[in-house]
Amino acid sequence: MRRITILGSTGSVGESTIDLVNRNRGAYQVVALTAHSNWEKLATQAKSLRPEMVALADRGGYASLKAALAGTGIAIEAGDEAICEAARRDADWVMAAIVGAAGLKPTLAAVERGATVALANKECLVSAGDIFMAAVARHNATLLPVDSEHNAIFQVFDFDQRAKVTKIILTASGGPFRSLPMADMRGVTPAQAVAHPNWSMGAKISVDSATMMNKGLEVIEAHHLFRMTPAQIEVLVHPQSVIHSMVEYADGSVLAQLGTPDMRTPIAYTLGWPKRLDAPTARLDLAKLGSLTFEAPDLTRFPALRLAQEALVAGGAAPTILNAANEVAVARFLAGEIGFLEIAAIVEHTLARVAGRRIASLEDILAVDEEARIVARNVPQRVAAGNAAQTIGAGNAAQATAAGSAAQKTAAE
Ligand code: NAD
Ligand code: MG
Repeated sequence: MRRITILGSTGSVGESTIDLVNRNRGAYQVVALTAHSNWEKLATQAKSLRPEMVALADRGGYASLKAALAGTGIAIEAGDEAICEAARRDADWVMAAIVGAAGLKPTLAAVERGATVALANKECLVSAGDIFMAAVARHNATLLPVDSEHNAIFQVFDFDQRAKVTKIILTASGGPFRSLPMADMRGVTPAQAVAHPNWSMGAKISVDSATMMNKGLEVIEAHHLFRMTPAQIEVLVHPQSVIHSMVEYADGSVLAQLGTPDMRTPIAYTLGWPKRLDAPTARLDLAKLGSLTFEAPDLTRFPALRLAQEALVAGGAAPTILNAANEVAVARFLAGEIGFLEIAAIVEHTLARVAGRRIASLEDILAVDEEARIVARNVPQRVAAGNAAQTIGAGNAAQATAAGSAAQKTAAE
């Protein structure tokens, strides 16, 4: 029996993990399940999976959770420290599926035990990549990437011949607004932004996919996981989300991992690793699909991707600031406080305001993260809107140029 813990069990990745566990109950003993505030869902999961412990970050739900699980013998704890406590319990395999930098300390707690960590939480690598990877090495932990692109690369990356890997190619769907007229981007609603064309995911990552900040975060994630330089990490828009990513070798070979867009495939890969499990996902039917298409990302339309790539090159505190500002900006957008284009504008503004901070420890990271959050929370909507207008202006100009050259081409033909 494999002893497993799921951090963030009530989320999209958490529930997909539980779905796989339920299909082979006899193989797993659940050690701990954790959630932010949804005590009802956590109680339902606990009654079915019978973990040794459950932890709820939000203390407000503690009494209700305790009442719901009375008589089960399951240990119940609440508060941020309780989530770390859950991660410290002796599970062999830990799914790190908390969203945001909130996942950093609990995931590190699992790493520090030398556990096998299935890493879905990309924000902890973006915010604290060097420190996180140093902890993985120091404690001899095993890191298995869950993010579909990184899982794809992990499956085809020849770690014994890493010098022969020339680049990695991260594919991106381009999200729901890949070809929306630039002027319409301003009025995009949270409901439209979370409706991803291919993947069903939590709200934060869905908005990140719509701004393409998600791909930017993934570029930084890939840099840490595979030790590739920024120049070796290419982003390729592939709207069908069938090729999940690729690795190019010195001999010109390009290896890819393909599949239907269902997170249960990469999760199953990490849950069974080093063996493969069965997963109940739809099978790929390429003949039915007919064609796969590709295009270069449009950095004018998606300034968030550019900001993330620049933050990786800048290094130091920049990725920490980028991540914290983005978390705040996405929350402000989802709360209806700012417009869609203002998300990247707030991130850019925060990066400029919180500059030159040194990072040498986890405490430095947490301090910079906090400072960036305060700045991002207080960027007035008016300032963000002004910056966002420049994005639309640049986008319109680019569209006009493209339309102009298309017209010229047609005239010439
Ligand atoms: P989600 O919003 O659906 O779930 C997040 C989980 O984290 C929930 O269980 C929630 O209760 C918990 N949580 C949130 N804030 C918390 C806090 N402050 N303290 C403790 N727990 C907290 O998110 P998701 O879509 O499942 O994504 C989880 C992570 O996996 C993210 O980092 C995301 O980028 C990454 N990821 C997700 C997908 C996907 O398909 N959903 C794909 C690739 C990577
Ligand atoms: Mg991904």
